[in-house]
Amino acid sequence: MADEKSKTAKLKEKIMMTEPEGIKALSKKEIKKADEFCVGYKKFLDNSPIEREAVRYTVGLVKKAGFKEFEADAEYKAGDKVYYVNRGKAVALAVIGKNGVKNGARLAIAHIDSPRIDLKPNPLYEANNLALFKTHYYGGIKKYQWTAIPLSLHGTVAKVDGTTVDVSWGDEENESCFCVTDLLPHLAKEQVSKPMAKAFTGEDLNVIVGSRPYDTKDEEKDLVKLNVMSILNKKYGICEGDFLSAELCLIPSFKTKDVGFDESMIGGYGHDDKVCAYPAIMAAIDVAEPEQTCITYLADKEEVGSDGNTGMQSDFLRYFIYDLAKQDGVEGYHALSQSKCLSADVSAAFDPTYASAYEAKNSSYVNNGVIISKYTGHGGKYDTSDASAEYMGEVRAMLEKNDILWQVGELGKVDLGGGGTIAKFVANMNVDVVDLGVPVLSMHAPFEIVSKTDVYMAYRAFFVFFDEK
Ligand code: MN
Ligand code: MN
Repeated sequence: MADEKSKTAKLKEKIMMTEPEGIKALSKKEIKKADEFCVGYKKFLDNSPIEREAVRYTVGLVKKAGFKEFEADAEYKAGDKVYYVNRGKAVALAVIGKNGVKNGARLAIAHIDSPRIDLKPNPLYEANNLALFKTHYYGGIKKYQWTAIPLSLHGTVAKVDGTTVDVSWGDEENESCFCVTDLLPHLAKEQVSKPMAKAFTGEDLNVIVGSRPYDTKDEEKDLVKLNVMSILNKKYGICEGDFLSAELCLIPSFKTKDVGFDESMIGGYGHDDKVCAYPAIMAAIDVAEPEQTCITYLADKEEVGSDGNTGMQSDFLRYFIYDLAKQDGVEGYHALSQSKCLSADVSAAFDPTYASAYEAKNSSYVNNGVIISKYTGHGGKYDTSDASAEYMGEVRAMLEKNDILWQVGELGKVDLGGGGTIAKFVANMNVDVVDLGVPVLSMHAPFEIVSKTDVYMAYRAFFVFFDEK
């Protein structure tokens, strides 16, 4: 009989892995839910290009959902929701569980910094009637991608009088923007024959910021530069010396947009790693009274190695958990050693155009759900925490039980390169951790692409992780 499965087919079904169904396994209703979830995500992405803005927007979201600012000596009960900001650039959200952190906490940890171009401490100069900024790029970028695209300026300036002023210029339609120039093809014979690393150097990423001289009859030098400075002085009350105590970043000035005729994907700046941060925030907002205290932590400085007091290597999160443990009458290290973490970071989605960079069997694919990376790092498994078989098993079972689309993968072919996440710093605190995130196309480009259903699956994964009994 044709529709009766052979013995071998039955055996195969029982013990062999089958091709993941991916999005085909989702109902229309679920796909609609994913699309709806992503409306909020797109807003988050547009309002959170740099870490300070991501923190501000997150605090706004969670305050509306009833989160209160954390006080170390306040007493909390199950269901209470708090947020705790670190220097305006990282933030912890916690939902107090029925058992507090007595049996450990549940952690979802993402980062909210993204690759970009920072201003040098002394950036402004004039050359051949143009005013320009000197820059120092932040994180791993392919420099040519940042030339000849509109950029906006975001950040904070601290003045000598102790006040700070936030800068945001270039996003609005009626606002001017900035740009790194590139050489015209007609004169680029030499440039195009160079290897990419030499064709575009960090020192070439100079940004055009003005071209008209200050209106005066006086015979002075650098009038274009003066004109730019006087505009900044009028708008922000800053002087040239204030650049020394500023964090100013150039980021793409275009808005997030749906991608594809079917509007199935989202293109935008900074999916890495806001695409994991937002689902982890929403999971904290939506979880009601969990068993264990649930913590979403959004870290800064991941793109440059997680160093510094706002990066994942700082003791901020550790001390926060110690504070929570004190309330529950347990030692902080005891709480940590029983904690479990999903390190929420993106991975590279298989790109058919660059197929040779990937190993097809161990890659993640757009619309196949969240990707679990047992380890990241590079050739020979350096610089990574390798999640234990036992913890992988737990996470796998949790996703299966809750019908969450998931896949496993490595970044790309073994010896082609690599990259790390903050998982290893969490693991160093004696916490069980594995990477779980969203596959991204064109990762670290000014315009990265993700699929809407994958974003929603990340939310579902973090939610069930928090909500698990
Ligand atoms: Mn990342
Ligand atoms: Mn990254």
